[in-house]
Amino acid sequence: MKINVVTIFPEVVESILEMGMLGVGSRHGVVEYRVVNPREFTQDTHRSVDDEPYGGGPGMVMMAAPLVEAVEHIAPAPKSPVILMSPAGRPYDQRTAARLATEAELTFLCGRYKGVDERVRELVVTDEVSVGDYVLSGGELPACAVIESVVRLLDGVLGDRESGDTDSFTPVRNGLLDCAWYTRPPEYRGLKVPDTLLSGHHARIEEWRQQSSLERTKTFRPDLLDCPGAGK
Ligand code: SAH
Repeated sequence: MKINVVTIFPEVVESILEMGMLGVGSRHGVVEYRVVNPREFTQDTHRSVDDEPYGGGPGMVMMAAPLVEAVEHIAPAPKSPVILMSPAGRPYDQRTAARLATEAELTFLCGRYKGVDERVRELVVTDEVSVGDYVLSGGELPACAVIESVVRLLDGVLGDRESGDTDSFTPVRNGLLDCAWYTRPPEYRGLKVPDTLLSGHHARIEEWRQQSSLERTKTFRPDLLDCPGAGK
């Protein structure tokens, strides 16, 4: 998969893309990252990517030309998603991650300041994604969050030791939260690991995990139980 990121902070994004599973993805040749700075597509001596909003008011707006021309320079495959990170986007979830993981190429646009000139949406954006109902100062961390969630789903990134098949929101968990996990020692400060997990009885352990997943979902995210098919 090819993943392109348009950002005025390329060093930040590049260093995140080297970290953990994101780095494993590129070192194993599963994913190829390309980070492009829209400042390369400016005409003035200051290499400005932002300007005052028409109509006045505080804050600056990212100009259309550097962003649009950065995307044109990347020349993403026709019909591949060009995703603007934005609080106005569709709330991001595991289902969207799974859908994006089937694409051959993804391009992410990171906004800054008040956001991007509306014409960027009309000219190059195909999807708009939000990482939640709160506002950050830039799209870099949201884009990296989305990229990490996608890359870890690609074949050859997570080995068996870190398998994601049983994580929260997966079919194995019926779309619910993951179960509770324990590791050695069997007792720590008087707190014991549940007997079932030490029993070696696989069927009972699996039953315990399903039950734990359901209980944790009831406690922390009861809204997930309202989704069709959840908890079955
Ligand atoms: N004026 C905008 C916020 C701009 S924040 C508004 O109120 O909706 C600057 C940039 O940060 C945005 O263009 C976007 O790229 C990024 N950003 C901020 N919050 C985000 C979120 N919840 N999800 C995705 N991107 C976000």
